[in-house]
Amino acid sequence: MENVKTCSKCKKSKKISMFIKDKTKKDLLKTACKQCIKIEYDLKKDILKEKRQANKRKVKDYNKRYREEKRRIGEYERDSHRSRARKLNAKYESGITIFKLIKRDGGKCLICKKKVLSRNVSGYHKDNATIGHIVSMANGGSHTWSNIQMECMECNTKKGISNGGQLRLF
Ligand SMILES: [Zn+2]
Ligand SMILES: [Zn+2]
Repeated sequence: MENVKTCSKCKKSKKISMFIKDKTKKDLLKTACKQCIKIEYDLKKDILKEKRQANKRKVKDYNKRYREEKRRIGEYERDSHRSRARKLNAKYESGITIFKLIKRDGGKCLICKKKVLSRNVSGYHKDNATIGHIVSMANGGSHTWSNIQMECMECNTKKGISNGGQLRLF
């Protein structure tokens, strides 16, 4: 009697060595052959991978939308300020947001006195609210409540250009 077993999946008779051991089974072997188990495993792996990737995309999209919304209403602490302050070794006070600055400075640009938008338009808009540094960080100013003021995007941009600096918004 040859040592063969019929696979429950492909229904082929195969040598015992083509089956993985399984202590829970009566004959101590899995019912499906190695090949069938591998096929199934690969299939499951692909499905799982796809699911994971789809989920990752979803989380990424959500985070992006969340950040954009916060940025729009100005409740967003800009990472660019933090990294710039770190680079220039400038003092950095955390928790500064455009939203809080609008409240503190009455929603007006302190340079041209015009009203800034309470909800920023994405990209460039001359009336967008921006955090202006009274002494620019490039000139040793800090990112602190005492060194910032509400500025419209137009004024902030002009200031940046006349300072000879690179065009750096907010
Ligand atoms: Zn099989
Ligand atoms: Zn202005």
